[in-house]
Formats: sequence, structure tokens, C-alpha cells
Amino acid sequence: MFEDIPVDVSPMYEGERIRSANMFVELGGPKSSGAELVQVAEDVEDGSLEVVGSELSEMSEGEIHPFGISIQIQGEKLEKELEGVIERRVHELCNYVKGFMHLNQRDQIWCRVSKDAVEAGFKLEHLGKALSILLKEEFPIIEKIAVSIFTEKSEVEAFLETARAAYDVRDTRAMEISDEDVDVFYGCVMCQSFAPSHVCVVTPDRTALCGAINWFDCRAAAKMDPEGPIFEVTKGEVLDVEKGEYSDVNAMVSDRSQGMVDRVYLHSVFEYPHTSCGCFEAVAFYVPELDGIGIVDRDFRGETPLGIPFSAMAGQCSGGKQVEGFTGLSMGYMRSPKFLQADGGYERVIWMPKEIKESLTEFIPGDLIGKIPTEEDAGSIKEIRKFLKEHEHPIIERLKQAKGEVEESETFEEVSDEGEITPTAQVAYAPELSMHAGGGVKIILKNAKIYAEKVIIRKK
Ligand code: SF4
Repeated sequence: MFEDIPVDVSPMYEGERIRSANMFVELGGPKSSGAELVQVAEDVEDGSLEVVGSELSEMSEGEIHPFGISIQIQGEKLEKELEGVIERRVHELCNYVKGFMHLNQRDQIWCRVSKDAVEAGFKLEHLGKALSILLKEEFPIIEKIAVSIFTEKSEVEAFLETARAAYDVRDTRAMEISDEDVDVFYGCVMCQSFAPSHVCVVTPDRTALCGAINWFDCRAAAKMDPEGPIFEVTKGEVLDVEKGEYSDVNAMVSDRSQGMVDRVYLHSVFEYPHTSCGCFEAVAFYVPELDGIGIVDRDFRGETPLGIPFSAMAGQCSGGKQVEGFTGLSMGYMRSPKFLQADGGYERVIWMPKEIKESLTEFIPGDLIGKIPTEEDAGSIKEIRKFLKEHEHPIIERLKQAKGEVEESETFEEVSDEGEITPTAQVAYAPELSMHAGGGVKIILKNAKIYAEKVIIRKK
């Protein structure tokens, strides 16, 4: 089947990483541009493959090129709603090709080709061929398929416009309904190959954190393949409407995460936030000093107010972990009226990059727009606090109230010379904590939250 392709094609290469030292070229990614798009079309010429622009053999080692993958499919049972789901499989299937690495999705794709693959004679045309075969195998309802790969700058730019317009149509449709309008949500475990405990819960208000799959897409995928990686989940009892907690969703997440996660709040970063795989479009992070929430997206290259860039933050909370104070998000979820509603929504947001703030102008309440600083207004906690005060951000009132409550409670508390704090309080949180229990037994606590009735602070 893959005999014309000079490198192996198999799921066993999915986890392959191509580091700079072994890289021949980079395609798309943060230093260039790229996109992928699957479209259901008429009159598709089955098996058609074209590379518009330079082939790998015409590129030089170390170069970075713009990159586009356009896939047209045709089939009697193919619905337009399946485009997003089929497109999401492109990431996984590209990674079956030994020597080709694909990260992210939509207009965020970032690919690398290894030196070994190019030495073996691998070309982009072979990538197109592998995709045609694998997609037809994965989705037998695809009767005809045509793949175009772009590396020529102007072609990629024109393709990006087409792709973004198609994403917009899908995203706009997803905003037509909300969680209350439907009886079922959907689960997705496509990212478990690299994030084994990660389960996406996709609802009308919470599009998948990769940003590529919405509730309509999931409905079509589950209908087409009920045993596949995208499946229906009933809501069960509504345990907390504000936080977005549902009994059947908890049960499903516990089952599909092999017991690693048993509660999920769909609309909060606190206590039991949604797990994060690694392909989220943005991260919401708690800033304890200001009791607020910051947002950073994948495209932001600077440091966040926590003093680390997006990449480091993503490293801390990805892999399927449920880390209190962090959650992966899609841009679509930030447009939802339920966006972190249990935490206060945009009233709790105290920092975000300028670019995403501008893209969300019509979704951030008008009276808050000027009150949320970006990297151009403030970088450090001190600068952010100053900005929030000057612009009368509602978090300042919240901080004052919290301070008042603490002062009030302190007057009723007995604080000994040693500095005892008596109320029950969470004093530590650790994603993973190991303890040796003796007798050769090691106990590993996952997502440990340590509460204490008493904290004693002694002078050394
Ligand atoms: Fe599925 Fe979620 Fe991964 Fe998107 S991020 S492919 S919805 S598991």
C-alpha cells in the first residue's frame, strides 16, 4: 500500500520528535505560517496529488517554509459537519510517517521533516499520498480524495484566507446553541496517544480545547462511528450549574481516564478544572497575588505575569493533568457566555495578550475592555496591580473585600507566639507527590491537595 513511499508509515512513529539537530526543514510554525483544511466537495478527482511550490529536494537544510495542506473529499454519506473531525485526524496521521512531525491544528500547524527522511528520498508528494490512503482507511465513507500541498508563500497566504473563512463558518455555527439546549454532550479521547488521562468534554458552550472540534462536529462523528474516539455522553444529574458539573460526565471522565480524574468543572479553573492535553489554543492561569486569572495563547512569545512563557506553562499543565489554577482553552470557549462563569468570567481576567484581546472585543463586556491590561500595558504583577487600580477593574473591589474579611477574622482568631493559624486551610498542592511508606512500599499521590487544621510557623 505504501510501497512507493521511501519511509515507513505506521502508528508506531506517532510519538517521534524531530529536534533541531536532526531537522532538515521546518514547515509552518511560529516563525512562518501554515494551515490545514478538509472540505467536502463535488467533482473530486480521486487520487489527485499536487505540490504547489518547492518540493523538499529543492529546499536547503535549516530552512523554514510556509506550509498548507488542503484536502478535498467526496462521498455519498459525507456530511459537511464531519470536516472538522476528519481534519483533526490529519495531525495523527501525518505523524504515522517516519521522519515527519506534525504539531497543532488549523492555522497553527507546525511541522518538521528529518534529515534521515530526506536522505531516504522522502518528498511532500509522499506525505500527500500517505494522507490519502490513511484517511480513506480511517473513514471508509470517503470515496474520493484529492490532496494539495502548498509551500509557495503567496499560495499559502491565499490558502490561509480560505481556511480561516471556513473555520469562522464552523465556529459561528457552534455559537448558535448553548449547553441547556441539548440533552447530551460528547467526549473525545483522540489525544490519549500522548496525554493518556486526557478526556475532552465538548459541549455547545465549551468547544474542544484544540479549537478544531465543536459540538456539531462531535455529533456527526459519533453518529458516523459510535465506537470511535468521539462518543456521546449524557449529562445525568446537574451537580453544579455554575461550575458545569454533571454526574454522568464525571463518571465518563473517570472511566476514560482510567480513574486518574473523577470530577470535572467545565466552567472553572479551580478545584477540578478540565484536564489539558497539549494542543490547547490558550491557557487560563490563576495569579494568586491578584486573585485574578490571566490568559495566554500559543502565539504569544513573551513572558506571562507568572514569569514564564506559554511553552513552559503548557509543559506544566499538559499531558492530561488536572492542575488546579490552570486549564487549557480554545478561542471558541472564550467567546462563550459561559466562559469561566463560576470564577466570574471576564470580571476575573486581569491580563491577556493584546492580539487575543483584540480578537475578542465583541465578547468581552464593554465596561471591562479598557480595564484588562495586555503586555503593552503591564508585565509584572506590580505593574498589573497599578493598571487595575488606575482603571478600576472589579478585581480591586474583590481584593479589598477579601482583605477586609481577613482582617475581621483575624480579630477573632487567637494567634499564639509561635504564629499558629487555626482555621482549616489548603496549604499545599502538588500534581504528584511520592512518599516512602516503609517495607519497600512507595505511595504516589496524584493531584494531591494538602489541608491542615493547624499551621504552626516557628522562628528558626
Ligand atoms: Fe479530541 Fe480534545 Fe484532542 Fe481536540 S484536544 S482532538 S477534542 S481530545
